[in-house]
Amino acid sequence: SDIVITIDGPAGAGKSTVAKRVAEQLGIIYIDTGAMYRALTLKALREDIDLNNEDELAHLAHRTEIELEKIDGEDKVLLDEEDVTEEIRSQKVSNYVSVVAKVSSVREELVNLQQEMASNKGVIMDGRDIGTVVLPDADLKIFLTASVEERARRRYEELKEKGKDVEFDELKDEILRRDRLDQERKVAPLKKAEDAIELDSTNLTVEEVLRQVIKLCQE
Ligand code: C5P
Repeated sequence: SDIVITIDGPAGAGKSTVAKRVAEQLGIIYIDTGAMYRALTLKALREDIDLNNEDELAHLAHRTEIELEKIDGEDKVLLDEEDVTEEIRSQKVSNYVSVVAKVSSVREELVNLQQEMASNKGVIMDGRDIGTVVLPDADLKIFLTASVEERARRRYEELKEKGKDVEFDELKDEILRRDRLDQERKVAPLKKAEDAIELDSTNLTVEEVLRQVIKLCQE
């Protein structure tokens, strides 16, 4: 199948969980664009780059290699060939990623890479601007949402399961702050594409969302 599907939406709505499952079911590849912005942010933090310096961030994006690879059935994120799959999920990266992601030259670099990764194959790609900017001609566009309480709750459960010590209110604040930055930025703000179908997952299980997306693919 060479179907092209986009899933956009706010942080923690379940985009990646659903996208992974759809990819498995349809035998297409999954591209996590948030992981790419996270990997670049990790490098900027490691190199102590001034996050307000757009020229430096542009240069950084230009001299950085980011790859998404499936290794032994697991999605891995490679930053200049180093496996950073776990590290890019840290609270620190989550707190700064939207600052890096609002820089237009950074976005240009990553959007080009994303379009290259998706060319001539069946893909499901998730992010914030996939239906609006990266893959405007996609076959199916989903805008996945959920209440902020529910999104924070899911993130909380997920992190607790991994043995991480987190505060619910802190998570909720981070999600709200990130949504606001992503919605209010000048370049490619988070918004529903006109031709996207909105799914509110607040009261749905992963299975139910999955079923709906698969059904939409068949229409
Ligand atoms: O998807 P995830 O929550 O991991 O994305 C992390 C951050 O990366 C988002 O909050 C947003 O600032 C940025 N991002 C973006 N455009 C995308 C994907 C992610 O600006 N297509």
